[in-house]
Amino acid sequence: MQRATKIVATIGPASSDVDTLTRMIHAGVDVVRLNFSHGKAQDHIDRAELVRSIAADLGREIAIMADLQGPKIRVGKFENGRVQLVRGAQFVLDAACELGNEQQVGLDYKDLPRDVRSGDILLLNDGLIVLVVDKVTGTQVHTTVRTGGELSNNKGINRMGGGLTAAALTSKDMEDIKTAMRFQADYIAVSFPKNATDMMMARQLANIAGEEFQHKPQMIAKIERAEAIPALQEILDASDGIMVARGDLAVEVGNAAVPALQKRMIRMARTSNKLAITATQMMESMIQNPVPTRAEVSDVANAVLDGTDAVMTSAETASGRYPVETVEAMAAICIEAEHSEDFRLDADFLNVTFSRIDQSIAYGALFTAYHLRVKAIVALTESGSTALWMSRHNIDVPIYAMTPSRATQRKAVLYRNVTTMELPHSTDREAVLKMAQDLLLAKGAVQRGDMIVITWGEPMGQVGGTNALNIMKVGEY
Ligand code: PGA
Ligand code: MN
Repeated sequence: MQRATKIVATIGPASSDVDTLTRMIHAGVDVVRLNFSHGKAQDHIDRAELVRSIAADLGREIAIMADLQGPKIRVGKFENGRVQLVRGAQFVLDAACELGNEQQVGLDYKDLPRDVRSGDILLLNDGLIVLVVDKVTGTQVHTTVRTGGELSNNKGINRMGGGLTAAALTSKDMEDIKTAMRFQADYIAVSFPKNATDMMMARQLANIAGEEFQHKPQMIAKIERAEAIPALQEILDASDGIMVARGDLAVEVGNAAVPALQKRMIRMARTSNKLAITATQMMESMIQNPVPTRAEVSDVANAVLDGTDAVMTSAETASGRYPVETVEAMAAICIEAEHSEDFRLDADFLNVTFSRIDQSIAYGALFTAYHLRVKAIVALTESGSTALWMSRHNIDVPIYAMTPSRATQRKAVLYRNVTTMELPHSTDREAVLKMAQDLLLAKGAVQRGDMIVITWGEPMGQVGGTNALNIMKVGEY
C-alpha cells in the first residue's frame, strides 16, 4: 500500500541493533532521528553507520536527522537523585548550588536568575511541577511550589510564556554539528531557535563543517519556544522545514494552544514551500503497550489531515518496548487517513502566479495529473525542488523524484507523497524517458498503457531549471 506521509523514528537503546532497525525500516521508517540530547558522539556515529549499512543492504534510501540538544535549561543533580516537592513549600533554584536537596537545587543555565522576576511561573519536568517565583536575590531564585511531585536529576525548566535568553546554539551543539557532518546527516534539527538569525547561524556552521565532505544538510527549526510563534514566517524563510515540537512548546504556551498552532504551522510551512514534521507523544502509550490508545490513533490521523510531511516517534522507538509495532501502527493509521474523504486536492495552487518557469511546470504537472487521472507524476530532478513544490499540495497521485544524486534522494524521502528513485545521468532524452518508465514498471507503480506526467529540464542532462512537461502512455516509447 502506497503511503504519502513519512515516518521519522528516533533510535536509541531499544532500536540500535541490526534486527530491530531492519524490521523498523521494513515497517515504514523513512527518516532516522539521532537525539543528541542523549549519548556520546561515538554512539551517534555508530548508529549512523548502522543505518547507512542496513539501508544499503535493503536497497533503500533512509535519511538521517541529527537533532541537536540546544539550550535546554535544566536543574542540577540531587544528593539522593530525587526529591519530593510539596505544594506550598519554599524551594530555591540556585546557580551556585552544587548538590540539591528538599530546599534547593543547582542550575546548568547560570543566567536564569537574570531572566526571571517575581510572579513568573516556572514549569519543571515538562510541566508536571509548577513553581511560582517569589523573589530573585543574586544567584538564587526563590519560589513557592504550586504543583508538587517528584523532581529528579537534570529535569528541564521552562518559563510560561517563554522569554529565557539562552542562545540557541551551545558549544555542545557546535561540536555535535561537526560530528553530524562526519556522517553527512541529511537533516539537522535545531532546538529552541527563537528567530531567523538562530537558523542562519546553525546553517552556516553546518555548511562550514560539511564543506570537506561537499555536503550541505537541510535545516529543520524545532518550534518549541513561545517567541518562535510570532517569528514563524522569518524562521520558515531561513529553514528548510519546521518540527512542531509539541513537548516543549506545550509547556511554554500551554497545552490547549498546541492543536490550533499545529494546524497553523503546517499550513504556513506548506504555503512557504517548506517541510513540516509533527512530533512528540504521538504514540506515547506504546512505550509500554503493544497497541496505541484511540486518542493517539486520532492524533496521528489528524496530523496527516493537517498536511504534515511526517509524523515522528521519540521514546516509543528509542527506549520503548514495542519499537517495530509502533512504526507498523503509525504506517497503518497514515494510510487510512490518506484515503479519507477529507483528503482531497486543495485547489489553492490554481490561483497562484509565479515568475519561475520550473515552479509553474511543477504546478502544471499537478493540474494535468488531476484532470487526466494519470497514474504517476515523475519529476526528473537534480536538486529535488520540483518534487518539493509538487508535494506541497494534496493529490492522490504519487510523485516520483528521479535523480542521479543520492543526497537529493535522501533529502526527498521526507517530502510528503514523494517516492525517490535513482536514475543514472544521461544527455540522451529518449533513453532517459524510457529508463524512467522502466523504473516505474519494475516497481509495479504503473502498467503498460497507463498515463503518466513527466517533467524535466531541457536540454536533458544539463543541470538547469525544469522547463518541460510531457504526458506519456507507459510503454509507448
Ligand atoms: P525534544 O524535542 O524531544 O528534543 O525535546 C521535541 C519536543 O520538544 O517536542
Ligand atoms: Mn524539545
